[in-house]
Amino acid sequence: MQSLFEKVQQMGHEQVVFCHDAHSGLKAIIAIHNTTLGPALGGTRVWNYKSHEDAIVDALRLSRGMTYKNAISGLNIGGGKAVIIADPSQKSEVLWRRYGRFVNSLNGKYITAEDVNTNTSDMEFVSLETKFVTGVPEYAGGSGDPSPFTATGVYMGMKASAKKAYGNDSLAGKKVLVQGTGHVGQYLIGHLVAEGAKVMVSDIDAAKIKSAVEKYRNIEVVDNAGIFDLDMDIYAPCALGATLNDDSIGRLKCAIVAGAANNQLADENAHGPMLVKKGILYAPDFLINAGGVINVSAELEGYNIEKVNSAVEKIYNRTLDIYALSEKENTHPQAAAMIMAQQRLDDIAKMKSRM
Ligand code: NAD
Repeated sequence: MQSLFEKVQQMGHEQVVFCHDAHSGLKAIIAIHNTTLGPALGGTRVWNYKSHEDAIVDALRLSRGMTYKNAISGLNIGGGKAVIIADPSQKSEVLWRRYGRFVNSLNGKYITAEDVNTNTSDMEFVSLETKFVTGVPEYAGGSGDPSPFTATGVYMGMKASAKKAYGNDSLAGKKVLVQGTGHVGQYLIGHLVAEGAKVMVSDIDAAKIKSAVEKYRNIEVVDNAGIFDLDMDIYAPCALGATLNDDSIGRLKCAIVAGAANNQLADENAHGPMLVKKGILYAPDFLINAGGVINVSAELEGYNIEKVNSAVEKIYNRTLDIYALSEKENTHPQAAAMIMAQQRLDDIAKMKSRM
């Protein structure tokens, strides 16, 4: 089996930090993948991982995704991410403030924000101990919840994908399955309902489904277990990663996959090409879900909402550029997006080495 250090070497991480505090019960991993473009920025996920190895692998994969996401989005920040191994019910002021002190000890090499199971109030606690935090509430001087911006970016990527697949970008009448009706999922449903798409939703949490149904009438609730056998035009994964695998791709009947979840392809080298073979257009996750980081990173340079909105809207054209590049390079869209991101990283590294 590959050792942890071999994995870190293979994935190209700069630094991985294990944080432990017996008093608060904090067990966190901060993974800094690449700081070529600037300090590493990425959210903190709280998840009750089955094993420590699962948590480490998640932190490594998520932080690497942030490097590509930030690079392709034209941001001057590097890629990092953190995970806290805990049940969300264990979150407390003390846990967040202790975590904030660990973030602070990295002196700005890593800047945090929210992710799955974390919110603006959690980041407010973190901000009591460090200035290296974004996504804090507006009343505390931050830009608030990044999820609406993520959802708008995903919507842009989905429309561009429709343009590529159908010749026009209207989603009216299209059957779209949104898997995961959490923060991003619900804002995405709002865009889709407004455009007249036929929206189906699934979640493992009945309370999240209830809140979506209360907000948006005319959406159809489907059983999460059978989603890959449904007849649909577009699958929007907005829950967790790795939902595109041998089993699901074998069953999927849709023209497009475009969603917010990070690391949707269980294995990008196997499942990117598999989707192409099935004739399914895949909008690279790290490209179209960048709205949130575009928004929180704006806090670092003096927040300007017009600039943020314009950067999020650019996801539409960038998605079309990636589809064109994937045809030119005869590769799948995720690989094409990685080529474009890596090109910027290499160019900036070269430019900095000459200074
Ligand atoms: P969230 O925790 O608010 O929502 C996730 C939802 O998915 C929850 O309702 C949860 O019950 C549901 N879920 C979990 N496992 C599921 C499963 N197996 N099947 C169906 N539903 C399941 O998180 P979020 O902030 O909405 O983020 C959603 C995804 O988008 C995550 O993968 C996150 O990393 C990614 N993302 C979020 C942002 C952001 O701005 N919030 C930015 C970029 C990427």
